[in-house]
Amino acid sequence: MIKLYSPIILLLLIFTSCGSNEALENEKESNQVIINQKVRDAHSYSNVHEIFTKHLHLDLEIDFNSKTIYGTARHHMKNNGTDTAVFDLKGIEIIRVTTGVKGNEKNTDYVIGQEDPIIGAPLSIKVDSLVTDINIYYKTTEKSDALDWLDPHLTDSKKYPYLYTQGQAILTRTWIPTQDSPQNRITYSADVKVPKELMALMSANNPTQKNDSGIYHFEMKQPIPVYLIALAVGNLSYRKIGKNCGVYTEPTMIDEVAWEFQDLKKMMSAAEELYGKYEWDKYDVIVLPYSFPFGGMENPRLTFANPTLITGDRSLITVVAHELAHSWSGNLVTNATWDDFWLNEGFTVYFENRIMEKIYGKEVADILALIEFQELEVEIKEIQESDHPEDTYLKLALNGRDPDEGMTQIAYVKGAFFLKTVEELAGRKKFDDFMKNYFKEYKFQTLTSEMFENYLIENLLKPNHIKFDTKEWLYGNGLPKNCVKIKSPRFEYVQKLSEEFANGKDIFKGKGSKIKRETYITQEWQAFIRKLPRDLSVEKLKLLDDKLGFKSCGNSEIMTEWFVLSINAGYTDVRPEIEQFLNKVGRRKFLLPIYKTLSKDKENLKFAKKVYSNARKNYHSVSQKTMDELLNYSL
Ligand SMILES: [Zn+2]
Repeated sequence: MIKLYSPIILLLLIFTSCGSNEALENEKESNQVIINQKVRDAHSYSNVHEIFTKHLHLDLEIDFNSKTIYGTARHHMKNNGTDTAVFDLKGIEIIRVTTGVKGNEKNTDYVIGQEDPIIGAPLSIKVDSLVTDINIYYKTTEKSDALDWLDPHLTDSKKYPYLYTQGQAILTRTWIPTQDSPQNRITYSADVKVPKELMALMSANNPTQKNDSGIYHFEMKQPIPVYLIALAVGNLSYRKIGKNCGVYTEPTMIDEVAWEFQDLKKMMSAAEELYGKYEWDKYDVIVLPYSFPFGGMENPRLTFANPTLITGDRSLITVVAHELAHSWSGNLVTNATWDDFWLNEGFTVYFENRIMEKIYGKEVADILALIEFQELEVEIKEIQESDHPEDTYLKLALNGRDPDEGMTQIAYVKGAFFLKTVEELAGRKKFDDFMKNYFKEYKFQTLTSEMFENYLIENLLKPNHIKFDTKEWLYGNGLPKNCVKIKSPRFEYVQKLSEEFANGKDIFKGKGSKIKRETYITQEWQAFIRKLPRDLSVEKLKLLDDKLGFKSCGNSEIMTEWFVLSINAGYTDVRPEIEQFLNKVGRRKFLLPIYKTLSKDKENLKFAKKVYSNARKNYHSVSQKTMDELLNYSL
């Protein structure tokens, strides 16, 4: 057995060690990934600077009866001459570890270090300096937080079980033993065995039909960070909607989903026109069950999407534009650590808005940006009053904390407004050329905020004599004064309408008699509801519900705004709708504001806890964790 390292010593080892230059040159030639030697990732134990995975092959058997994945992770590695390979591990049981290629393996010693509640434990494997193949035999446990095993009643058809994974930020280590740092880009392949009545899909080349064997083979030929390895298993069907794009979901939903995402092909052309070729061959979207904790997850070739996007009026399609944009920002050019998360998300929100502008026009894009900007302002205030006011910097310092804590509007919206502000100063043409070059220059690589800052200064700011203080944006509190301002007459109009209504005007009289839910887009209604006073009379709230049916309109963005206002204003008639919503939807973006508002007073908190104790089992661990903390819930 080899020595057990403490996390600190291990990090020191990682930090002080280097591979040889020759080895790096060879990697460059073979178009493989270059590991940046100076970047330290506080959320991974792995010693990627000494030995790193180039290709991972997975043999997986999915057992729905015991809710277990039995797996072998075969890592083909580049070894710079080390005697230990360190992997990340959490909630996984190791069965044995071997070295050598399949069929010619020998057992090797390993040791699992002390478990940290956030980043898990290091799995240190003894190797000799010539070893390049390590095979880890393992099984998942109920602590494998990436996995959401759904009983049939939580699916649309209610007939078959379902499984999906969520890897970002550091959950891949809970279902595959890997070097779980975004710095390590790998290719992967997999053989996955599932019950015969189900189909398996991954973030790789995918089947479009079930087969009789229940065994599926996958290849991901482009190098990706391991948080993008993803798997979904269920009773699924496929519908092609463009030359190289389509949708997957349960057969009972396929017509609706295909209709809702019809504009996918337009979005792909718009994105390519903006920032260059789509590098992943195919782009499909899978609509998962309601427990999925996010709006979407940009797993390459196969975006995972939340069924709350299916509204029947294509009004929440912007999330798909967002996930598609990640095919460039995030998946092609990736944040080196979770402290640089804004490089993934800020760029993507910016890019998403440009796609929306190209297809639906500037008016719509501006309304979308303003709604997000309002959310940013609220969140900045909250963060400034929290224990971590420094979380309003774009460059985060999440050492010792869960990287999920960096998933705030800072990375997303402040990041996007950084780019919008630079765009305004440079002019669109120059800015777009810069972005195109950036994606080309760094494709299939990872970078830090500092590397981007330098690239921006050298390639856009300096040559064009643009005065722009990158430091105050990256390492400064709140929003810098030079932040671009967006004006939208349509946004202002609904805000005025809202004020008039609150002040007693009957907005449904005369010309207003034609106002319906469809009169305004989702984000205009959000702006309208947000502008209403938090203590609006119950009578007025009832009137709006009678006329516009917000409480059961089926659009979860609007419903969430409405529930938050209703709770604040003491409009308790909507409790049955709130309860129903919380039992069905597991998307954290909606759960959090509703539970948070409920927890502000004693009576509502009692109601929230009652609902949660029943609804909790319908959520993914990502949402459970957030709500457990918020409601002080323990099993
Ligand atoms: Zn995103």
